[in-house]
Amino acid sequence: MELTSAFRGLVCPTCTADGGSVFDQQCPACGDELEPRYEYDEVSAAELFEPGETASQGQWRFDALLPFDRSVAVSAAEGGTPLCGADRLADELDVADVYIKDEGRNPTGTVYDRGMSLVATALSGHDDPEELEPLALASTGNSGQSAAAYVGRLGLRSYAFVPSRSAFSNKAMINVHGGQMRVVGGRYGDAASAVDEQLAADYYSLQEFATPYRHEGAKTLAFELYSDLGGLPDVVFVPTSTGELIAGVGRGFEELTKIGLTESTPTIVAVQPTSCAPIAAAVQQGRDSPEPWTHPDTIIGELEVADPAGGTQAVDTLQRLDGAAVTVEDSDSLDAATTICHNEIIEMGAAGGAAAAGAWEFAEDGAFDGDETVVILNTDSGVKTPDILRSHLMGQGR
Ligand SMILES: [Zn+2]
Repeated sequence: MELTSAFRGLVCPTCTADGGSVFDQQCPACGDELEPRYEYDEVSAAELFEPGETASQGQWRFDALLPFDRSVAVSAAEGGTPLCGADRLADELDVADVYIKDEGRNPTGTVYDRGMSLVATALSGHDDPEELEPLALASTGNSGQSAAAYVGRLGLRSYAFVPSRSAFSNKAMINVHGGQMRVVGGRYGDAASAVDEQLAADYYSLQEFATPYRHEGAKTLAFELYSDLGGLPDVVFVPTSTGELIAGVGRGFEELTKIGLTESTPTIVAVQPTSCAPIAAAVQQGRDSPEPWTHPDTIIGELEVADPAGGTQAVDTLQRLDGAAVTVEDSDSLDAATTICHNEIIEMGAAGGAAAAGAWEFAEDGAFDGDETVVILNTDSGVKTPDILRSHLMGQGR
């Protein structure tokens, strides 16, 4: 296994015990989840942003701050996604610039490919990976599809537990990529419970914040934004469900300060649906961790996570970096997604539409000064949920 020179293995953030091998997930001393650790003094900005590197190399161009060398990456060029200027939206929001970071153009059409590529790369270094089978996770849909694709590449057996409401395209492609699927009646929380019930806890988890690598992959978003903009954006709107993306993007921006490249971090804004907003509620109420949301009910299935695995980490990130959280109505999210599809060419997903609606809400609240560079994260492709987007239009007689 080719590890990178600044990577110092996995460490427990709670008790600081060393974590053992790159395949371990829980701290041997206290059972908390492990995190990658780096010697930041050994990474220069020039190394992280090597001249001549291009977006076509995807997220692995930033392997100076990843655990594994790009030469061993299990990769389909995830990351390196376009940062699309949205001039009309900038005019409407009355800010200097708006960019949509289009994660729909990852290999399986979702931002989760970044983390899954790291997970698969770690597993590819195992002497006998079949020992770890089955690999499993619960998913609202996209992460299950991504996991099936990357685990399929390794030739290992995996299970994705998805709620019955998850998108048909996700369910179909989990199987097409060679993954096993278990459709669980109810909502995401029921799928999460079913993993342990059906597999008797005897599996290797691909769940965010069980594997140390999923939010670790998401941090490369921050590196790409810095690279593409030639500096930091001012505000980044992130559709928020499990907390994985908030924790990951926050870490990426913090690491730029740790290697001495930047002195500040952008304002990161978590956007959740009004009808399922445990992380936003915790931030707005000044609590350290979210309370599970009692009656989640959003049409945007990707954002319906009532008890987020990374809730505490997300809230901690937003508090530490002086971020914010807003909630948005589903109808506003779908309006934003369909308007962006109409005006900006790209396939904006419903969850990405929530991030855009969050930016609208910021504008309406007078929270922008007018000179900001704003980034909206489109976390998945609109073609995954065309039915939701189109039925919204039809409901409006359009
Ligand atoms: Zn520990």
